[in-house]
Amino acid sequence: MLPVVALVGRPNVGKSTLFNVLTRTRDALVHDLPGVTRDRHYGVCRLVEDRHFVVVDTGGLVDDAAGLDAQTARQAELAVEEADVVVLTVDARDGLLPTDRSILDRLRRAGKPTLLVVNKVDGLDEQVALAEFAALGLASVFGVSAAHGRGMGPLLDAIVAALPEPGADPLAAEPDDGIRVAIIGRPNAGKSTLVNRLLGEERVIASDVPGTTRDSIRIALERDGKRYTLIDTAGVRRRARIEDALEKFSVIKSLQSVEAAHVTVLMLDAREGVSDQDTSLLGHVLESGRALVVAVNKWDGMDKYQREQCVASLTRKLDFAAWARQVFISALHGSGIAELMKAINRAYASSNHKFTSSELTRAVEAAYQAYQPPLVRGHTPKLKFAHPAGTNPPMIVIHGARTKHIAEGYRRYLENFFRKRYRLEGTPIRIEFRDSD
Ligand code: GDP
Ligand code: GDP
Repeated sequence: MLPVVALVGRPNVGKSTLFNVLTRTRDALVHDLPGVTRDRHYGVCRLVEDRHFVVVDTGGLVDDAAGLDAQTARQAELAVEEADVVVLTVDARDGLLPTDRSILDRLRRAGKPTLLVVNKVDGLDEQVALAEFAALGLASVFGVSAAHGRGMGPLLDAIVAALPEPGADPLAAEPDDGIRVAIIGRPNAGKSTLVNRLLGEERVIASDVPGTTRDSIRIALERDGKRYTLIDTAGVRRRARIEDALEKFSVIKSLQSVEAAHVTVLMLDAREGVSDQDTSLLGHVLESGRALVVAVNKWDGMDKYQREQCVASLTRKLDFAAWARQVFISALHGSGIAELMKAINRAYASSNHKFTSSELTRAVEAAYQAYQPPLVRGHTPKLKFAHPAGTNPPMIVIHGARTKHIAEGYRRYLENFFRKRYRLEGTPIRIEFRDSD
């Protein structure tokens, strides 16, 4: 499971600015897709290869100001409890304030490795700015300017060094896991009901196997001769008994499960429609590049009109992930489950599709012939050849000339072209252009 880093500090010290720097993805496209909502508090830092971690902006955790809403405070506390490393941020311009000290006192009780970030050192004498904060007695102190991206290298190195040792690649770790499936969704969508149904219907070949870290638990499942591992679903089941929706739902857990899975099942409640929380979870899945199936649950007891309304709203709101299969199920009654498993298998197979360079090159030629990218100052960008550059998700590198002029619309055209030609369903496809001269 991905380690967790919590950003803590007074309001206005620059936590959300720092959060944005850390969680900005190479694939900025995800955020430009209309309909995707960006999660402002939870994200994954992918800046250091093979050392990804979850970042939580606890905004307002130990804010002494009255009126801090209890939910936010509790959520922030949970984040610190789940964190492997805490980054306490202070403001160089404000200097050391009593609130900074009281926050640190609370953090000391949590007993987590803590780094001190002195932000907004731009335009200041850094040594002078840092000196004042030595009084806090923290060994690791970093002067940065989050707004200008200054000082981030050393800070990233220190965060990574403080994280627990990385395990092997989570996807390669256990070859007999079969297809790893994460089931995520809002509280009460029906995740636990689905897991119980899957387990109840099928012979469970290995019961709960405690994971190596914290309470991550994997459940092995065999169905129609295929092996699956449900990730962290025991957590889902255990928490189901807790009535408090907040306790039950953890974005951190969702992010970790998605990251450790091959295929994510995003579960929606047909009666509730698509909420911001759903589209923000979807944003996380898209960033991760994982294969995706959308399970629309509680399909039982809906009349024809309600079903049509629901389908229309799904089409409209999930347009940006139209490549993901939508399966209509009733976890409670068991309808649609076989179709769901089929969609999972298909998404997995698609995400692992292995192209050869020669067939990809032929595909690119065919696509280019059918429709060329628009002229740029009298020249058409050229596409010459292509080769595969990875799976899960499939990654295709296309070489050509003037490729930087290729517009997003054309990239999408190619993506759909590949999708159709290779019948890929349920996986994103990443395309990278390179000029070959
Ligand atoms: P948060 O409340 O802790 O999340 O703080 P924000 O990230 O919202 O930042 C508060 C204010 O500080 C904003 O106006 C930012 O533009 C500004 N700010 C953040 N980082 C820096 C920095 O490195 N230098 C300067 N000069 N201003 C910054
Ligand atoms: P979770 O929070 O996502 O794990 O949701 P639960 O599995 O605990 O389900 C929340 C509620 O929805 C429970 O009362 C379930 O009985 C109910 N529920 C789950 N699946 C279905 C379904 O397919 N149809 C109907 N009508 N109710 C369901």
